[in-house]
Amino acid sequence: MAGREEQHVRVAVIGSGFGGLGAAVRLRRQGITDFVVLERADSVGGTWRDNSYPGCACDVPSHLYSFSFAPNPDWPRNFSGQPHIRAYLERVTDIFGLRPHLRFNSEVRHLRWNGDALHWEIETANGELTADVVVSATGPLSDPKVPDIPGLDSFPGKVFHSARWDHDYELRGKRVAMIGTGASAIQIVPAIQPEVERLTLFQRTPPWVLPRADRRISAVEKWLHTKVPATRAARRQLLWGIRELQVSAFTKRPDELGLIEFLARNHMKKAVKDPALRAALTPDYRIGCKRILLSNTYYPALARPNVDLVTSGLKEVRGNTLIGADGSEVEADAIVFGTGFHVTDMPIAQRVTGAKGTTLAEEWKDGMASLRGASAAGFPNFLTLIGPNTGLGNSSMILMIEAQLNYLADYLRQLDLLGEKTALSARPEAVEEWNRMIQERMKRTVWNTGGCDSWYLDANGRNTTAWPGTTGEFKRLTRQVDLAEYEVLRPKTGTAAAPVGASADARAEVAA
Ligand SMILES: Cc1cc2nc3c(=O)[nH]c(=O)nc-3n(C[C@H](O)[C@H](O)[C@H](O)COP(=O)(O)OP(=O)(O)OC[C@H]3O[C@@H](n4cnc5c(N)ncnc54)[C@H](O)[C@@H]3O)c2cc1C
Repeated sequence: MAGREEQHVRVAVIGSGFGGLGAAVRLRRQGITDFVVLERADSVGGTWRDNSYPGCACDVPSHLYSFSFAPNPDWPRNFSGQPHIRAYLERVTDIFGLRPHLRFNSEVRHLRWNGDALHWEIETANGELTADVVVSATGPLSDPKVPDIPGLDSFPGKVFHSARWDHDYELRGKRVAMIGTGASAIQIVPAIQPEVERLTLFQRTPPWVLPRADRRISAVEKWLHTKVPATRAARRQLLWGIRELQVSAFTKRPDELGLIEFLARNHMKKAVKDPALRAALTPDYRIGCKRILLSNTYYPALARPNVDLVTSGLKEVRGNTLIGADGSEVEADAIVFGTGFHVTDMPIAQRVTGAKGTTLAEEWKDGMASLRGASAAGFPNFLTLIGPNTGLGNSSMILMIEAQLNYLADYLRQLDLLGEKTALSARPEAVEEWNRMIQERMKRTVWNTGGCDSWYLDANGRNTTAWPGTTGEFKRLTRQVDLAEYEVLRPKTGTAAAPVGASADARAEVAA
């Protein structure tokens, strides 16, 4: 067992998905090698390790859904499949020399802020350590949510969540019930429909579905992207620009989305000839209120004779019989839950105890809130990647992660400047001000006005997940840490206020 000193690191990153790996690359680029990446699983990849269900692919084009600092000219399709994205993240891990920093099978069980030593005490499944700074990259969609269905225990068949696919279970010839109609379900349904005997889809709310402009990326394109990197950059820029232009319709002028609804209706009409089925599949809320889904195969699969639609959620299970909220009864051999993740009740929050001795979950009992999506009040030197109100409805989360990595880099620079053993603690009024701005802007967005209940909203109906602006704006707002928004903590004197809006020289003086 290593000595106490050897168990201390400058930075502990939790999670090894896009966020955690991105943070690790940024730390190395900043010249920081004294860090570990704590991962509960036994390999990297996060979302793209855990979601291996049939048909799993990204729904933002791969040339945008990847790191800007690790371009991949070889993406096989516009919307590449899970194995390719996972392999990409493994390559990023190797290319940037991240392996020595990885600690697998190290689920973080608890983190406690030590206000005297100004560091975090971290208890993992694999031992304990301390860290000056913690970067929590545990993912917005990493802990599957399975609803509490009465009688589920009595079901004699197979049950699993889409994010924990059991590849040993043979679906061929089985009667399968798919619960949910979110982004995963609409990829799974067409992928398994041809092989199962019967597929019953339990739909509480129909999604809006648009065509997916998917195609193989040709050898010529790949060659060009390799030999002339500017073509790859231009492609990414175009994909980004188109999505930036769409944002105002989502955030300011939801009425403009009517035209998109027309396209979605037409898309359905082409595949589903039965008017009754079409009616059952037509949403009664504004497009964009829930995540817009992309698929060319979902509607055709639903129109196949071995597929049934139950237009209600699953209410109860009695043996092999599944009972819908509308009273319909269906026999099944397997139940697949495509019921999403713990999003607004971020599980890591229950495991973090901050400066006041309360957990982040307790502090967030009325809704998640962090300064610039990263720093919660009372949790010094604890930065969340993809924290509250950083989610996107239409573009790549990697853009948000990279913006937050800029913030992280500046945060660490500021700490260095302030001197050894200092910590930054977000001022409650700064967190409040940031969230007041967000909630004010949220009032006009399609997520809040579109007439749906979505996973963007928490139990109080507050949108604590989505970012109500462009990715460009978020990047601008997270380029640098504004020290006026933080208190500077020092070990001996306790808390000392940083000179508000101080210049770098003045800050250096404080540090001296
Ligand atoms: C099926 C699916 C498809 C998606 N498609 C897209 C898309 O096309 N475009 C897009 O922008 N976004 C998409 N997303 C969202 C996606 O989650 C993000 O884009 C991104 O992958 C999140 O990366 P992350 O590193 O923050 O989280 P994750 O990839 O979820 O990684 C979190 C990591 O933290 C680990 N972890 C969690 N808790 C602990 C703990 N206590 N201790 C130690 N380790 C822990 C997990 O094991 C995991 O490895 C998709 C999500 C899903 C589920």
